[in-house]
Amino acid sequence: MIGIKVVLLDLDGTLLRGRTAISGAARALEQMRGFGIKIFFLTNASTHTRKSTVKKLKAAGLFARESEVFCSSYMIADYIATKYPGRKVFCISEAGMQDELLDKGVQVVRDEHADIVAVGLDRKFTYEKLATAFKAIRRGALFIASNEDMMFPVEGGFLPGAGAIVAAMKKCTGKKPIVLGKPNRYGVELLLRENKLKKEETLIVGDVIETDVLTGKNAGIRSVLVLTGVAKKEDLKKLKMRERPDFVLESVAGLPGLLSKL
Ligand SMILES: [Mg+2]
Repeated sequence: MIGIKVVLLDLDGTLLRGRTAISGAARALEQMRGFGIKIFFLTNASTHTRKSTVKKLKAAGLFARESEVFCSSYMIADYIATKYPGRKVFCISEAGMQDELLDKGVQVVRDEHADIVAVGLDRKFTYEKLATAFKAIRRGALFIASNEDMMFPVEGGFLPGAGAIVAAMKKCTGKKPIVLGKPNRYGVELLLRENKLKKEETLIVGDVIETDVLTGKNAGIRSVLVLTGVAKKEDLKKLKMRERPDFVLESVAGLPGLLSKL
């Protein structure tokens, strides 16, 4: 008996594919809530705020509370506001990250006179934005990234992830960012601390080995890999010991059944 009381769910490829819920996801969430399990949504996505993530989930038929959402935009804003108060930030991102920064009272600037460069997914990424961030980092700005994801699943396929933009930044500056999203255990520790919850009772669920499963390893919590997103069954054979999830499910729909057996 493991006794899981807390489940950390990834969004893209686990509960959602683009704007559409994965089949059985709504029922799985309801069942787990019915078991009295605490649910959190831990996502590397940076284009939404906590508030707009709740709306996005609701539009797909999935219920969430704002306090349950830990998106990388929120984590970056919380990190900067706590650790670097009063510093100016230049963002390569969409509205989500900027709104979370402004909500925490962080000053967002549009030129290279920034103390911190924060990078996430930006579907309007340009050479001009790259050049501004490059100049800021050459002036000594701190480089923070939401995640280094290669790609993310959408309806009918995949799109390039924030990692492609972070790679461009790394190449021209020669610097490595502080990556706050998964596989960093930062988000897990933040949410467990804020909610006074225990690692031993927590399970992380996601579709990517390099982020979701490794977050479990890095944070010392158990992990479930679902096969509805990036990772495929064939990938499982190639895994090294430290990349192996504790459990593999075809989809999140099987999660309540797994939890009832643990
Ligand atoms: Mg995912």
